[in-house]
Amino acid sequence: MFEITDKAIDVETLRHDLADPAAGGMVIFEGVVRDHNDGRAVSALEYEIFVSMAEKEAARIMAEAKEQFDVTHLRGAHRFGLMGIGEMAIWVGASARHREAAFKACRYLIDEIKYRLPVWKKEHYVEGASDWVDCEGCAHHHQPEFTEKEYYSRQTRMSDFGESGQDSLRSARVLVVGAGGLGCPALSTLAGAGVGQITICDGDILDVSNLHRQTLYGHQEVGQFKAQLATQKLHELNPLVSITAVSENFNLLNATDLLAGHDVVLDCTDNFSTKFLLHDACYLAQKVLVQASLYQYEGQIQVFDFGSDSASGCMRCTWPEIPAADCVGSCAEVGVLGAVSTVLGGMQAMETIKHLTGRPSPATSATVLVDLLSLETTAVKRPRDPSCPLCGDQPGIVDIHDQEYEPRQFWEVGMNEFIQNHPQGHIVDVRSEDERGTPVGDMASWDNLPGAGHRELLDLAGENEVLLVCEVGVRTRRLVEELRAAGGQRFWSLWGGTAGLK
Ligand SMILES: [Zn+2]
Repeated sequence: MFEITDKAIDVETLRHDLADPAAGGMVIFEGVVRDHNDGRAVSALEYEIFVSMAEKEAARIMAEAKEQFDVTHLRGAHRFGLMGIGEMAIWVGASARHREAAFKACRYLIDEIKYRLPVWKKEHYVEGASDWVDCEGCAHHHQPEFTEKEYYSRQTRMSDFGESGQDSLRSARVLVVGAGGLGCPALSTLAGAGVGQITICDGDILDVSNLHRQTLYGHQEVGQFKAQLATQKLHELNPLVSITAVSENFNLLNATDLLAGHDVVLDCTDNFSTKFLLHDACYLAQKVLVQASLYQYEGQIQVFDFGSDSASGCMRCTWPEIPAADCVGSCAEVGVLGAVSTVLGGMQAMETIKHLTGRPSPATSATVLVDLLSLETTAVKRPRDPSCPLCGDQPGIVDIHDQEYEPRQFWEVGMNEFIQNHPQGHIVDVRSEDERGTPVGDMASWDNLPGAGHRELLDLAGENEVLLVCEVGVRTRRLVEELRAAGGQRFWSLWGGTAGLK
């Protein structure tokens, strides 16, 4: 229903798809590249899109519109890549029995698409320069009633920050992984300061136990995706910056694409496997990583400038292997005070701003420990270890996809292992038809049950052993975890997914 493409948008086909004898009218919005913006003559426009994520989000938006408005059909397309003046970048259309519904649905689609899709826009100017830009209010529904100068006046007034500091923040692209206790203060500080493009990556939904420290959210929003909630809140805080929500956890599948569009990455997560994955991915992509973690009344912060600092050590110099998940208690187990995560998240924002405006920091060559009871800070130097598996002289880690970031559970098994142990067992593919493509190998008992819910799966299992299969084994890992917690002890997950079978 919604297409992301690097080819010219096929308007004829889209219009044809909308047509329906039952529909009294259709409303179409066409967005084309214009020849100027903010007084500058534009020669071309370039869109970068995080395609897989954009497709999912667009499908979600279409489903929402279908539910809200009495429409017969909805279609849309967003083009990416380089486009000249007059070329069409986006097309959405709605047909309905009555024009009112068609107008409303079309308006909803274009607003939400502009607001929620992970899209970055670069303008090429006639005089030769080019710039990443905020999509002219496309990211917000209302034009603000104040100027940039007014909004940032208190910080540009600082003599060593000034307009040039503001320019540096405006052109920055920052990825924040985790919109929880560290992420909330970091995000609101960065958005308020005017970091031009911020992407929020978090697959979690808001829980009531988050509220005491995750101050971007309200109690009536429990159950909603944090990344989307945070995006809305930050738009309210500062409509001058562009915020993109990615409602997925940072994982092996999206890591490379997500890092590609960003200069600085903030690690606001609280688990070892994501911390190591993010760290290794940033090292390999030579990004700047601002990392914080906390334990009771203490926190630590470190900045890895992987692109330009080869003298300082990485996290693997200290921890060559990922520590067991239970070696340090998680927030859920040991508890956490909101004031501690707020201080550390604020420090991450400060370190990011220092980096973006060219100020040095001791945290780039040391781990800085902060004890919030005694108010003492200690900087522990972080020299590079030549035998480090990542940044050492003979690195063993050269591709994140060859690594195991999550400790394997006993119920994560290989295909042959499962078939041998449970010759009568069922194999269930939980992927949707679109994702599945061609089945892999010779699997006679390959039952397709896309989008199956827990109840259906538990009923289906009965007395049988069931191996759940997805693309890389991440989705089924989560599913089996939940099913086993709900009493489904006969469920297994295919380790490495179908990707591992090819
Ligand atoms: Zn290292």
